[in-house]
Amino acid sequence: YHTISDVLSSLGIQETNAAYSTGLNWGTGNSGQTRAIHSPTNGKLIAQVTMASEQEYDQVITTAQQAFLEWRTWPSPKRGEVVRQIGQKLREHKRALGTLVSYEMGKIMQEGLGEVQEMIDICDFAVGLSRQLHGYTMHSERPTHRMYEQYHPLGIVGVISAFNFPVAVWSWNAMLAAICGDVVVWKPSEKTPLTAVACQHIIQEVLKQNHVPEGVFNMIIGDATIGSRMAHDERVPLISATGSTRMGKKVGEAVGARLGKSLLELGGNNAIILTQNADLEMALRAVVFGAVGTAGQRCTSTRRLIIHDSIYDEVKERLLKIYPKLPIGDPLKEEILVGPLIDKDAVSAFLKALDEVQKEGGKLLTGGTVLKGEEFATGTYVTPAIVEAQNHYHMVQEETFAPILYLIKYSGEVEEAIAIQNGVRQGLSSSIFSTNLLETEAFLSHWGSDCGIANVNIGTSGAEIGGAFGGEKDTGGGRESGSDAWRFYMRRQTNTINFGRELPLAQGIRFEF
Ligand code: NAD
Repeated sequence: YHTISDVLSSLGIQETNAAYSTGLNWGTGNSGQTRAIHSPTNGKLIAQVTMASEQEYDQVITTAQQAFLEWRTWPSPKRGEVVRQIGQKLREHKRALGTLVSYEMGKIMQEGLGEVQEMIDICDFAVGLSRQLHGYTMHSERPTHRMYEQYHPLGIVGVISAFNFPVAVWSWNAMLAAICGDVVVWKPSEKTPLTAVACQHIIQEVLKQNHVPEGVFNMIIGDATIGSRMAHDERVPLISATGSTRMGKKVGEAVGARLGKSLLELGGNNAIILTQNADLEMALRAVVFGAVGTAGQRCTSTRRLIIHDSIYDEVKERLLKIYPKLPIGDPLKEEILVGPLIDKDAVSAFLKALDEVQKEGGKLLTGGTVLKGEEFATGTYVTPAIVEAQNHYHMVQEETFAPILYLIKYSGEVEEAIAIQNGVRQGLSSSIFSTNLLETEAFLSHWGSDCGIANVNIGTSGAEIGGAFGGEKDTGGGRESGSDAWRFYMRRQTNTINFGRELPLAQGIRFEF
């Protein structure tokens, strides 16, 4: 691709885009509300989107309900075949979609491409899974009886996604939901709707060729209003929401009030522990990637570094040599490692957090500035910051979605470091660097890390799709992607079958009449 407009046209993005898609057809949007999408990389207008109206939302839900009636009757491997072809289409469009992710969201190209690769991987995973949606069989306590359980399609899965993984999170949910026989209504982040529009264009041909009913893969443009409507909507049995803890609490409450299912993937406050037995060469690579990758805007970004005091000064010195040399700039350029923050609000939050943590006693060691000059005219480029701090500081307890790394010292055994690591409300990702088995096993033990993800000698970010992804406490408790996360997208049924001519009751109960 020579220019961004080549990329856009190859993905079906026009200057003004539709407000919703039902997979096969597009709706124009009659809410009268439009939103201009500017790239955080250079501030240029990429395109306009129209927000869907309430009436259009209802139309999409009705179409999805109809589609479910047919889609659930398709054998799962046939649904898997559609997902296989979607994976192929994503392979064809990997470069274009990865570039658009980078341009609309601001992550570097390598990470944009990586995000699309993750979509391809989950397609492959889902295809295999489509032949193994298995339950257990059990032995009955009654003669000539057998028991087993099965998993049936659930209905509409509402997917609310965040700006920082604008397309991968959809695919984690949508591809599993699709093979499970569910239909999906996706509400992407209002900050990154164009990548969502692009995904719908990419899959459209596959859906047509395979005669997939209209309404299996839906997408609707809107902000929190549409998201909230979906959370309250009894026609949507499962809401999978990715975003801030603040959003998750509202969504969880709304879905809980109607006894729906919610899968919440919320904020993290992830730490790496460096013990005196850490391999520092490896550790520093992981720390820097974790802390400044995606400009600190991953849910799994490394935010806290808990360092044994015997190696504290060395780690600090080495980080202070690396940070000032990090290439910051246009994420589409190959040599760049740190792109912009998503918008100016994010920059304000970054500056405010640094200001407040210093008031609490934190010491800013490097970074923390907004870059100026022609290349940085958007005002969204910042220098990643390192702050010496203590775990109980208010700002250290919060997730600031920006590249701030807090250095925290510990002096005792690994248990002290684990207590610091667990001493926050969030529970997404964690890791330890140590070559001592006693330390690493303590970290992974029942009394070790309380996070959904606990790694040894790798960083906090960059999970593979094969494992279940998610976290505990304020991170929301949901699990998506690999392992048996698919079960949550289905309704579970226990079956007891009597193949005899008597009717014995369980627990030996006698009921004669
Ligand atoms: P956000 O909470 O501002 O928005 C996320 C989505 O929720 C958007 O689509 C938004 O429109 C919608 N939304 C907001 N309020 C809502 C409401 N009341 N009802 C329904 N929908 C609502 O988050 P963001 O700024 O886009 O993303 C950053 C956050 O996402 C960070 O906290 C990050 O840690 C988290 N995140 C978590 C994971 C994970 O898997 N745990 C992954 C990516 C991002």
